[in-house]
Amino acid sequence: MTTDCPDISIVAPAFNESDTIKTFHARLTAVLDALDLTSEIVFINDGSTDDTLDQILALKAVDPRIVLIDLSRNFGKEIALTAGLDHATGRATIPIDTDLQDPPELIPDLIAKWQQGFQVVNARRRSRQGESYIKKATAAQFYRIMQRFGQRYQLPKNVGDFRLIDRKALDAVNTVREHHRFMKGIFALVGFRHAYVDYDRDPRFGGTTSFNYWKLWNFSLEGITSFTTFPLRLFSYMGFLVALVSFVYGIIFLARVLAFGDPVSGFPTLFLTMTFLGGVQLIGLGVIGEYLGRVFNETKNRPLYFVNDIYAQSTETPKALSVSTPIRVAVSDKTYAGD
Ligand code: UDP
Ligand code: MG
Repeated sequence: MTTDCPDISIVAPAFNESDTIKTFHARLTAVLDALDLTSEIVFINDGSTDDTLDQILALKAVDPRIVLIDLSRNFGKEIALTAGLDHATGRATIPIDTDLQDPPELIPDLIAKWQQGFQVVNARRRSRQGESYIKKATAAQFYRIMQRFGQRYQLPKNVGDFRLIDRKALDAVNTVREHHRFMKGIFALVGFRHAYVDYDRDPRFGGTTSFNYWKLWNFSLEGITSFTTFPLRLFSYMGFLVALVSFVYGIIFLARVLAFGDPVSGFPTLFLTMTFLGGVQLIGLGVIGEYLGRVFNETKNRPLYFVNDIYAQSTETPKALSVSTPIRVAVSDKTYAGD
């Protein structure tokens, strides 16, 4: 870390991005060079299995603005981003994907808004090119649930992790150390003066997205269960409803028995009721289990990530410092969420 802070920190997590990282750096530096501000680029190598690390080191040899945090393994994008945000020293910080889906050319617009006094400037996607209908539809549904059942703060629509955060807002974000990191929610949680800049999101430049529908589903669950108690409440209502129906049905039964005597029948009804209720109860238990799992993971209070090396800025030869980062070390929730 430098003693005098740069104006702008770029935070770029990279996992197997060897196809794009050079182009990303070229486009980014073209933008940064045109600015009248000082900057640093914090790359996070999130346990890449290709030569992403070597490529970043090669870039670092020619670009003294680069800081590289090499994590001990793959922790997933949210945690990688957190590691980067922890180490960003700028007066304003901009997290950006290295796969060029977030256009670096938008950075001056974000900065302009910041200079007008906004503390969080969100880049908002105007269109979702190259994304399937199902992805768009599921995304829309997800936002609807979050908007309806979230807390007092609202989750902005069509906003990813690409944004500008000023020092105060970032310090606030960095105090939130929960393990289930739904970053978009965390940014909404901390508040501060928000502004928006619209842009068109590009299809991936190279490589393949590590996202698939299963991951997207888990990501939505993450958002919903980390920021709302809507599923728990849903089951309370469902319980009331089922109880009410069975009460009414019970009265009808009683009336029939009193009026017409008791023909012993109704086995199918009994069978269906039992299996239906059994199913509903199991789902309810699953929902409670989901929240309980989160409580379990948070109470362990493990560090969020582990750092292998930090290649700090402005060392003459890129030399690995064996830095351990005390409070901010790691966990992936994968051990839990994966099974
Ligand atoms: N990424 C990461 N760790 C991971 C997966 C992704 O650091 O485990 C990085 C990746 O290199 C990219 C960004 O996070 O810079 C977004 O990843 P991706 O393009 O796969 O996600 P999507 O664009 O679908 O949100
Ligand atoms: Mg991407």
